[in-house]
Amino acid sequence: MTDIFAADYREQPYWWDDAPRPAPCAEKLPAKVDVLVIGSGYTGLMAARETAKGGRSTLVIDAKDAGFGCSSRNGGQVSTSIKPDLATLSGRYNQEIGFGIRKEGLNALDCIRTFIESEKLDCDWRQVGRFHAAHNPKQYETLAAYPKSQPKGLEVPMEIVPAAEQRREIASDYYHGGIVYPHHASLHPGKYHLEMLRIAKAAGVQVIDHCPATNIERDGNGFIVTTVKGKVAARDVVVASNGYTGPMTPWQRRRVIPIGSYIIATEPWPKEKMLALLPKDRVVSDTRKLVFYYRLSPDLTRMVFGGRVAYMENNPRVSAPRLHDWMTLIFPQLKSARVTHSWMGYVAYTFDTLPHIGKQDGLYYAMGYCGSGISLATYFGMRIGQQVLGRAEGGTPLDNIPFPTRPLYSGNPWFLAPSIFYYRLRDKLPI
Ligand SMILES: Cc1cc2nc3c(=O)[nH]c(=O)nc-3n(C[C@H](O)[C@H](O)[C@H](O)COP(=O)(O)OP(=O)(O)OC[C@H]3O[C@@H](n4cnc5c(N)ncnc54)[C@H](O)[C@@H]3O)c2cc1C
Repeated sequence: MTDIFAADYREQPYWWDDAPRPAPCAEKLPAKVDVLVIGSGYTGLMAARETAKGGRSTLVIDAKDAGFGCSSRNGGQVSTSIKPDLATLSGRYNQEIGFGIRKEGLNALDCIRTFIESEKLDCDWRQVGRFHAAHNPKQYETLAAYPKSQPKGLEVPMEIVPAAEQRREIASDYYHGGIVYPHHASLHPGKYHLEMLRIAKAAGVQVIDHCPATNIERDGNGFIVTTVKGKVAARDVVVASNGYTGPMTPWQRRRVIPIGSYIIATEPWPKEKMLALLPKDRVVSDTRKLVFYYRLSPDLTRMVFGGRVAYMENNPRVSAPRLHDWMTLIFPQLKSARVTHSWMGYVAYTFDTLPHIGKQDGLYYAMGYCGSGISLATYFGMRIGQQVLGRAEGGTPLDNIPFPTRPLYSGNPWFLAPSIFYYRLRDKLPI
């Protein structure tokens, strides 16, 4: 197939079709607030909702449209999301902290489910489960050992699927079996963001978009934040800029690594044809270091297929054919499926592959979800809001762990190209 692009091809998230970004607001910046939150994604809105509910006047600003960052661009796959295992974390800190951090992943998944269900958020939430597929036999062996080695107190339901039975999960022979996590879920990221925006505003939060903050300076016990729309005095400031963190907050910028993640959506096909590919409508990821993640659209008519297919490239027209090639390697059935949408966004990796939350130089922050932040940003956004209020429940085992950086790193990930090149080679090896 030479032309993979549909006639109505667009370089914007598929999610924006049904959840368009809100029209730019015309509201004037207040001169003074109790809490100013920088960034209007899941982290920022959850933090703001919490502080507004706690009686603090709260303003959220965003450099672009509300939710312009990852929160309206992601793959909509919801999981427990803490990357390092218990042994790694216990070795790095101690058993108690390691256990506590792993537990936060489970808490985050519980938190988002309870939040969506109790607030009745209209966001296509479905606890469909995940099929995590082994890209080689060695990885299958590793996955197959998981159920027997679950740490006490951190057990989650899981089911091993050998290669011979894989077709009950996915109409592809590309993988070597896998594991199912039935509690993982899918949602519509754009709708989830709009619903969060709605209830944050209902709690009294003011949101001003197209208002990048350009400077933060101390002012007595508080801060003066300069934006393109004027200055605001705030007693407390929450930095919720994640993979879009800029030079204004150099301490945080030195600690997050912005990495491009890319997605395409295919043209609509009949539901039966698409459900034949993923018969249980599960979300799928694989064991490659440069992971591919995909799922059906909420209306079951499209494949939404993502991965890290570029080093420094940020042009969705360039990433689309690469993703289409990979997609058709897994599903040759989709060879003739044209691409209607291609987009990308910057996830925030960290040097220790953990999220981080805390206070530095008087500024609160929560960030660094390493590519799986739907549940974590929801949860740690809420927690950092509680910390601003000085509430004990805001505490997390991540509070006192160091947020590492590297010498000479100032926010420009010059090492990304060689790292991705290395991982690409590694993914080809039988390890
Ligand atoms: C393509 C892609 C696919 C993904 N898929 C998944 C997935 O399937 N599952 C999952 O769990 N996670 C996924 N993620 C990650 C997840 O979306 C993020 O971890 C989560 O949305 C982070 O939310 P956030 O609020 O912290 O940051 P963001 O939503 O990125 O928000 C940060 C905001 O800060 C604003 N900002 C930055 N600087 C300033 C400034 N100076 N002044 C004002 N505003 C500023 C930005 O404009 C931006 O809107 C994916 C991400 C991408 C990009």
